Amino acid sequence: MGKVNKTEREWQRELSPEEYRITRQKGTEPAFTGQYWNNKQHGIYVCRCCGAELFSSETKYDSGCGWPSFDDEITDAVKRVADADGRRVEIVCKNCGAHLGHVFEGEGFTPKDTRHCVNSISLKFVKA
Ligand code: FE
Repeated sequence: MGKVNKTEREWQRELSPEEYRITRQKGTEPAFTGQYWNNKQHGIYVCRCCGAELFSSETKYDSGCGWPSFDDEITDAVKRVADADGRRVEIVCKNCGAHLGHVFEGEGFTPKDTRHCVNSISLKFVKA
């Protein structure tokens, strides 16, 4: 994993129960309920758990799915992992292993043809 390696106990202490459930136990927030799915401000989205810079607002777009969608990541910030369900590709923070969401390709939303579908609660927005 990345540079940050905390025990489950430590994460549980530092995060709210909902943050812990989603970022450390691979949960999913309900669509259209998160803090950022409709955020159009300029800035950087960092990891809720470790603060690593993950996505720029420059790559955010409206996919209509109800979660923040980005067609690119900040270089080397996100790791792809085959999902347990065998169909999707999970994305995690490279620095601390936080579950972010899933990545989809071939949907045609943007020229990069990629949708990083991310839980708002896995992110923290830092306004530019
Ligand atoms: Fe992280």
